[in-house]
Amino acid sequence: MPVTDPTVPVLDLGASSPDLTRQLCDIESVSGNEQRIADAVETALSAFDHLEVIRDADAVVARTNAGKPQRVVIAGHLDTVPVNANLPTTLEMIDGEEHLVGRGTVDMKGGVAVALKLAAELTDPAIDVTWIFYDHEEVAAELNGLGRLARNRPDLMAGDFAIIGEPSNATVEGGCNGTARIDIQLTGLRAHSARAWMGENAIHAAAPVLAILAAYEPERHEVDGLVYREGLNAVGITGGVAGNVIPDAATVTVNFRFAPDRSTEQAIQHLREVFAGFEFEVTDLASGARPGLDAPIARDFLAAVGGTPAPKYGWTDVARFSELGVPAVNYGPGNPLRAHADDERVATNEIVACEQGLRAWLTAR
Ligand SMILES: [Zn+2]
Repeated sequence: MPVTDPTVPVLDLGASSPDLTRQLCDIESVSGNEQRIADAVETALSAFDHLEVIRDADAVVARTNAGKPQRVVIAGHLDTVPVNANLPTTLEMIDGEEHLVGRGTVDMKGGVAVALKLAAELTDPAIDVTWIFYDHEEVAAELNGLGRLARNRPDLMAGDFAIIGEPSNATVEGGCNGTARIDIQLTGLRAHSARAWMGENAIHAAAPVLAILAAYEPERHEVDGLVYREGLNAVGITGGVAGNVIPDAATVTVNFRFAPDRSTEQAIQHLREVFAGFEFEVTDLASGARPGLDAPIARDFLAAVGGTPAPKYGWTDVARFSELGVPAVNYGPGNPLRAHADDERVATNEIVACEQGLRAWLTAR
């Protein structure tokens, strides 16, 4: 039982959210090594009568069951990318602002600290809240703790709206683009290059594919009031047999980042139209997520936290909620460009701003 285990680190959820961020960062939790921090989170939350606490491997779920008409899911991952001589954390003044410096400060223990503190303090939130702290976000998708919960306990992810506390400069970033990767196969006829007229060059056959890509104008789609920029790019090309052989095969690998108003089927259909007459194989496909900012619960959230929402371009775990029919946004402290960097650091006032924003929304009557 972690509750009585003296080796479990003690988290002080009554500390300020920047201080709690520091406590969390100083428990090293590189992906695969989340047990200690998950034990600490489970132990700390188990002290509160208003929370039902559930453990699934190294994910911890805590939820209120006050019978409110709506429920929000607020989630954050506990793991980090590998440490590179950037722990324990330090507090530094940078450009006149206090920063917490070290691994995990941006991605994403600031967001986790805000969630933990509010989970403990909001004994009677305006809407029911499911708080999720999960493992294995920074590694292969099949290990992802939120994906595991979606398979094992989809009931724990159910809600009217979801917020992931990933770094977003303390502003709301909605939805995310989908992604498709295809291999376009070009074929030819092998021959000795001294008698090239006997063969058909598959690498030359890639030229029209590259011309299509070079001429392609990526679209912009407005979805629920946010404009998503798409992208269609060659990300790889292979071919060739030997220095004296006309090649009979070549492959162009293309990545399509598509707006969340296209389904995966529509994205593939679009690629069939763009590359009409060419054979291709789909090697990776993930749907995007609509920002869902048109729902009343999302509008109330936006009004409470303020600022102008922006689209999220990269694929994030919000799509896992979208797949379950739950609109989801990112909202967390820290500049995402500093995530994973050796000089990872967050302005402590951004952590406080996110705490205030979420608190204002969850306590509004
Ligand atoms: Zn992250």
